[in-house]
Amino acid sequence: MVAAHADDEALGCGGTIARHVAEGDRVHLVLMADGVHSRSGASPADLERRLAAATAAQKILGIGEVHYLGFPDNRMDSLPLLDIVQALEPVLQALSPQVVYTHHHGDLNIDHRITQQAVMTACRPQPGHSVKEIYGFEVLSSTEWTFPQHDPFLPNLFIEITAQLETKQRALDAYAEELRPVPHSRSMEHVEALARHRGYSVGVEAAEAFVVYRLIR
Ligand SMILES: [Zn+2]
Repeated sequence: MVAAHADDEALGCGGTIARHVAEGDRVHLVLMADGVHSRSGASPADLERRLAAATAAQKILGIGEVHYLGFPDNRMDSLPLLDIVQALEPVLQALSPQVVYTHHHGDLNIDHRITQQAVMTACRPQPGHSVKEIYGFEVLSSTEWTFPQHDPFLPNLFIEITAQLETKQRALDAYAEELRPVPHSRSMEHVEALARHRGYSVGVEAAEAFVVYRLIR
């Protein structure tokens, strides 16, 4: 899975990651931005806390390796897309994934949009390419905050996470600093409400929703 910032993986598909792991799949995470640089007053201590949170969430979700590409947080648009793709390509080639989860192309956050574009470019379906499936997840306070007439998130893949919702919530507990109290969109209550909404929409107790970018059978 390829995400812009540490915490996007837990918000967007923490339950799905835990389910893949429970089903015996290996899951690796690539984080494009380091998640701290653009914040005012960010210090090495902030960076350390965020890395510690990411490592704690990694263990809870059962993620194997985490690769940090270290691009500047919320300023990935200051770099040529080619540079970003060229940093991502060798990592994906080494991991040789069959399934890639990444951001929705319409997110408000610029790093999310660029990450999605970089994934689609790095995963061009050339002969012999390992990637057979690419899915876009939703991240609260970015996917639903975009101008909806532009690129609405219209999910057409639902993955049941009834048995993994509690694991997802524990992973997000590790990122407690990134969450806000209700009625903020990025709150634990909203995480659960969204999982229930996506689940009830398809007749299960809890789910995560995705758009299908590519599916090769
Ligand atoms: Zn993010």
